[in-house]
Amino acid sequence: MTITTTITLDMITGRSTGHLATLSGNHRLHSDAVTAFQAMQAAAREAGFDLQPASTFRDFQRQQAIWNAKFRGERPVLDADSRPIDISIMSEGELCRAILRWSALPGASRHHWGSDLDIYDPSLLPAEHKLQLEPWEYNVGGYFHPLTTWLSANMKKYGFYRPFENEQGGVAVEPWHLSYYPLANQIQRLLTPTSLLAAWENEEIAGSTWLVKHLDEIFAQYITKVNEVM
Ligand SMILES: [Zn+2]
Repeated sequence: MTITTTITLDMITGRSTGHLATLSGNHRLHSDAVTAFQAMQAAAREAGFDLQPASTFRDFQRQQAIWNAKFRGERPVLDADSRPIDISIMSEGELCRAILRWSALPGASRHHWGSDLDIYDPSLLPAEHKLQLEPWEYNVGGYFHPLTTWLSANMKKYGFYRPFENEQGGVAVEPWHLSYYPLANQIQRLLTPTSLLAAWENEEIAGSTWLVKHLDEIFAQYITKVNEVM
């Protein structure tokens, strides 16, 4: 499982799409990750699961729109228990940290890489329910728990692991988020505060005054601390 693509700054920060291939519908991943995921999908099917992507590649502009909308109160900001927070009483720094629990900075999302995706099983989702991407759906007692268990036992064979398996730093546990290790591990080592600042040049990033001032600290807590071991 060796990746031969040359990794560029634009690829790390979600500003190029040349390395992507279609997984299904409008879901795209790096071509090697597509091949690996499809092999895992076939094995899951044998085991009775309909393993499907919920979210795959996301570009810089999309992450920027999510970040800015949360910062401006146009999208809810959730606490550790997925309840909306009153952001009107928060300082810039408190708000940035609250958003970082569930959302990455524009340019620093693992969904930029083409290696990472969110998964679910539509056949396990009760008809009247909408997919929430919240931990209770995937944990013991939740309707996707059998899939979580199957993935834990099998995904390693296909090169996938969960970077947000345990709460580390201030990032929430995301049992639905899988990462194709051979690619993600290379990119993770190249993403630095300097490469992120280069991607932010001439871009509107809400809260950037506070963020730039605390970027090394933010990196250490929310980006570097993520589980790197498959
Ligand atoms: Zn995700």
